Amino acid sequence: MGMGSLDYLKEELGELNRAGTALHPRVLEDEQKARTRFDGRDVINLASNNYLGLAAHPRLKRAAAEAAERYGAGSGAVRTIAGTMSLHRELERKFAEFKGAEDSIMFQSGFTANSGTVAAILGKEDVIVSDQLNHASIIDGARLSRAEIKVFPHKDVQAADDLLRQTKAPGRHQLLITDGVFSMDGDIAPLPGLVEVAEKHGAIMMIDDAHGSGVLGRGGRGTVDHFDLHGRVDVQVGTLSKAIGVLGGFIAGPSHLIEWLVNRGRPFLFSTSAPPPVAAACIAALEVIEEEPDRLDRLWSNTELFKKGLHDLGFDTGASETPITPVIAGEEAKAVRLSSMLWEEGVFTPAIVFPTVAMGRARVRTIVTADHTEDDLREALEAFRRVGVRLELI
Ligand SMILES: *Cc1c(COP(=O)(O)O)cnc(C)c1O
Repeated sequence: MGMGSLDYLKEELGELNRAGTALHPRVLEDEQKARTRFDGRDVINLASNNYLGLAAHPRLKRAAAEAAERYGAGSGAVRTIAGTMSLHRELERKFAEFKGAEDSIMFQSGFTANSGTVAAILGKEDVIVSDQLNHASIIDGARLSRAEIKVFPHKDVQAADDLLRQTKAPGRHQLLITDGVFSMDGDIAPLPGLVEVAEKHGAIMMIDDAHGSGVLGRGGRGTVDHFDLHGRVDVQVGTLSKAIGVLGGFIAGPSHLIEWLVNRGRPFLFSTSAPPPVAAACIAALEVIEEEPDRLDRLWSNTELFKKGLHDLGFDTGASETPITPVIAGEEAKAVRLSSMLWEEGVFTPAIVFPTVAMGRARVRTIVTADHTEDDLREALEAFRRVGVRLELI
């Protein structure tokens, strides 16, 4: 191995492959929908984040096509130079309204919204108190900020309280941050308790609601609405990539926060803005969510049907309270077998193993959407039953 050689990556990849943990993403050959085609196989799709079935909604497709015709395929600049288009501003106003916030700012993704914002509002004198299972983009933002990082055990409000008390100092900003819905377990953050603790210590309260937006609360307004905590969460993060069905990230909050991020949010300043078809499709998505509330109802009735089905079969589904339902297999190898046997039965649900989840808690993760029919879900449950018996999980 000489200087500058990348050969060491081959060895490390070899190790991943031997351990069976190397990733080989399946290829989607049709639209993202409840029944679709991956790798040449027609399957029931329990793998997407397309909660409301908007990714291939005709209104969104039409809005994207019309915006491409009218405004072009790309925006041609970063937002702060020449890349702020009227569509971006329209979407930001709509999203702020949706979240009940003063204003909002769009980033290229939920990932950059989180990492760019945490890094922009805190410095090395400050402290971040973060749930153990928070998303990678929060962790990266915390590192970029150079603030001290304190992690509390999952959903442990008392531990968060203790950490805020211990790290308090004059002039030091404290950020308490949590996911709204946790992506691997489908459980909901104890937001009322966390908000109380943040208020007690004068800490900034921030929530990453990537899996809560479009899913929880009235009309899918998110976890803050679900707990009726309007006005008590300083920073709300949303994504346009999951329930909204397209691509992009959001920060909603007071207008001075948004103005600060226009000046200091590095992905906003240094990375090109969303193409017009993306922004236009997102605007259409927010309209569809408002005009077709039955989508949210179907999402939840499907969630109840599928969760109850798995539970009645005897599967361990962890602590989920949302459309994300893990089916715990235990050993890594068993989760991988469960996923591949389900695939053979025509059901796509990916295996999630260490280090994404704790050792011994390997699983497949299922996500139902508004687009699944009752037949889709009953057929998937029947496949789970057959495979579960063969693997002695039930
Ligand atoms: C998916 C996800 C993100 C990133 O959102 P993208 O728009 O896909 O970049 C951030 N936070 C959480 C909790 C997520 O699940």
